[in-house]
Amino acid sequence: MSSHTCDNCLLSCIDYRLQGYINNWTKTNLEEGSWDRISFAGGVKNLDIILSQIDLSKKLHQIKRVILINHEDCGAYGEEGTPQNHAEDLKDAKSALQKLYPDLAIDLYFLHLDGEFEVIS
Ligand SMILES: [Zn+2]
Repeated sequence: MSSHTCDNCLLSCIDYRLQGYINNWTKTNLEEGSWDRISFAGGVKNLDIILSQIDLSKKLHQIKRVILINHEDCGAYGEEGTPQNHAEDLKDAKSALQKLYPDLAIDLYFLHLDGEFEVIS
């Protein structure tokens, strides 16, 4: 197998309503060809699965940064999908990743249905 690396891994929900916004965001914020993409319903909601996918991205491509995107009106969250719950889950995912990979940069966003990327800090 050839050795190949990239700098970033972006994770977001499968929801079709967001893909155009995310594609535009990556064109503005990431170098083309510099990122792995993980799509999973609910974004970070199912943390174990997400961590296993990011682990592979790290091992295979030596990523330096993870971008985690949850979004407004997410069907996988249903009634639990308040902005506060999304922010908490994003922060929990960040904490878990920081413990596993202290050298990894982690950016958190809550994506609104109008395309606004709200930074979660
Ligand atoms: Zn969703």
